[in-house]
Amino acid sequence: MTIFLDSAGSSLPPREVVDEVVAHLRREAEVGGYLAAQEREADLEAGYGLVAELLGARPDEVAFTDSATRSWLTAFDAVPLAEGDRVLISEAEYAGTAIPILRRTREVGAVAEVVPSDPRGQVDLDALTAMLDERVKLVSLTHAPTNSGLVNPAREVAAAAHEVGALVLLDACQSIGQLPVRADELGADVITGTGRKWLRGPRGTGVLVVRRAAAEVLRPRLVDLHGARWTGPGEVRLREDARVHEVWETSVADRLGLLAAVRHALAKGLDVIEREVGERAGRLRDGLSALPGVTVRDIGERRSGIVTFTADGLAADEVKRRLAGRGVTVTVSGAPSTLLDMTRRGLTEVVRASPHYFVGLDEVDRAVELVGEVTAGDR
Ligand SMILES: *Cc1c(COP(=O)(O)O)cnc(C)c1O
Repeated sequence: MTIFLDSAGSSLPPREVVDEVVAHLRREAEVGGYLAAQEREADLEAGYGLVAELLGARPDEVAFTDSATRSWLTAFDAVPLAEGDRVLISEAEYAGTAIPILRRTREVGAVAEVVPSDPRGQVDLDALTAMLDERVKLVSLTHAPTNSGLVNPAREVAAAAHEVGALVLLDACQSIGQLPVRADELGADVITGTGRKWLRGPRGTGVLVVRRAAAEVLRPRLVDLHGARWTGPGEVRLREDARVHEVWETSVADRLGLLAAVRHALAKGLDVIEREVGERAGRLRDGLSALPGVTVRDIGERRSGIVTFTADGLAADEVKRRLAGRGVTVTVSGAPSTLLDMTRRGLTEVVRASPHYFVGLDEVDRAVELVGEVTAGDR
């Protein structure tokens, strides 16, 4: 028996996702990639509406990319930033977004500043409000960080940022697919996500939402012949919808697989998924907390399906290795991925277990037992 607790890493796609991808690859081998794509044109086009439904946006506010990071980078690159501007990040910031922010602010003479966390571990809304002024052009927020069970208060952050006209870029990579993430409810200007994690889609897929109002402000630069038309020897005309952020080439099989994953999530219902994931994560946290020598490291008032812990006297990699030997898949999150939060909490690494709804409650209990087994005797 294997117990899969890594949906925050790369989840297990359901049958219809795999079937869709494989069937399309076979079709490409029969008729070629162009014709195969043409046969699925209506489905591909309908995909914008499907993701719009999932993320509370309009179809023309949706773009597809090859990863959450690519979605984030193309949007961030389009945010106008000049000397003296301020960019706010939170302590949960992921290295993949912190690095481009640090490099670009330095390059243009802007500054990146960290909003502290409140005692519960989420972004401190009072501190944020105090830091906001009209020089703040962007607030970057990680909705659910990669290294703890936190869910940041995205709606409150967006509302505060909009008071001073700042854009809000929400990295929802760890929340899309496990809880309702809706642009119309959260108010974020840009939302980025991946297919491979909680959505149970194929690797190499990403989604991007750019709200209409934000699109007026953004200046997309990483634009190819799909996002713009070469209308005269020295003239180009950009698309006006979010697809300006896409590039022409894409894996059609993976896109179709991603759409199957979105349909699957919508059919189950994001509220139901959130409840079922929350039940499993809560049970896992409670079980682990009761084990001697094991410390649950999750923070925040609202919790996601990510459960993190450390074991006294045992490296996280060793816990992972021992659990793998007993059929339990977990992963390790190290300080460089979320440097600010890990440094503040004096952690170098945590074991991360992320149970999706397809993990049985009995499997959660068995995983707790096995963690107890592999961590006993090393204290
Ligand atoms: C995984 C992750 C990303 C990046 O996702 P990719 O699929 O690697 O692009 C971004 N933000 C957070 C919080 C993540 O956990």
